[in-house]
Amino acid sequence: PAGLTIRNVSKRYANGVQALHQVSLRVPPGLYGLLGPNGAGKSTLMRTLATLQEPDEGHIQLGDIDVIHQKEALRQTLGYLPQEFGLYPKASAAELLDYFAVLKGLTSRTERQAVTEALLRQTNLWDKRHQKLGGYSGGMRQRFGVAVALLGNPRLLIVDEPTAGLDPAERVRFLNLLSELSDTSVVLLSTHIVADVAELCTNMAIIDQGQIRLEAEPLAAVTSL
Ligand code: ADP
Ligand code: ADP
Repeated sequence: PAGLTIRNVSKRYANGVQALHQVSLRVPPGLYGLLGPNGAGKSTLMRTLATLQEPDEGHIQLGDIDVIHQKEALRQTLGYLPQEFGLYPKASAAELLDYFAVLKGLTSRTERQAVTEALLRQTNLWDKRHQKLGGYSGGMRQRFGVAVALLGNPRLLIVDEPTAGLDPAERVRFLNLLSELSDTSVVLLSTHIVADVAELCTNMAIIDQGQIRLEAEPLAAVTSL
């Protein structure tokens, strides 16, 4: 898959907060970790990459797509798991994933069955597919969020602070899933947990107060902290 290039992206909110200041990053294929404390600008950058908001300046390129100026092209190949991901708690995973597949334009029932089964197996939810989402654990909910985000085979998968509420075993399982997915798409993970990037990310950056402080391969970066 093609990598993502972010050049000189800045964003200042109407309240005067400079959330991003001349952010430049090269995100190669693989699992990429964006590490930073609360308020660093991670969600602002994630929403910008997901074309939910526009930066004041800068350029973002995914392969041949100019992300800021070709929003629709980007959205067709984007998977996005936002930080506040709400789910209809009374539906089962199988029902809701089928519903989203219809919204995605998969009109053939047999095609939908094949696609949703593959995604539920990949996210390790197949055995739990008839349970109501309201009874899912935090980790199961996040894995279901990934299954939804993967409908349509995105080239870019953005996951914003997905591990924040997970217990250690769920966290590792979730990161392993992202690592597997990064074989076929660029996976960008934002987190404030050092161990998230140290364990499985192939590349990382540290962001603080809207500025990139470090870009590195994780093992080298974390041992030098
Ligand atoms: P603007 O002044 O840019 O129009 P608003 O202040 O009206 O933006 O807020 C827009 C949205 O962003 C609202 O949903 C609000 O809750 C949220 N928001 C506002 N300030 C913050 C903040 N400091 N951190 C996170 N979200 C915020
Ligand atoms: P992170 O995801 O790293 O916690 P954010 O991107 O949410 O960081 O926030 C970066 C800065 O921008 C913070 O100071 C936050 O309060 C502010 N901020 C975020 N969203 C808004 C908004 N909609 N309006 C005004 N300020 C915001």
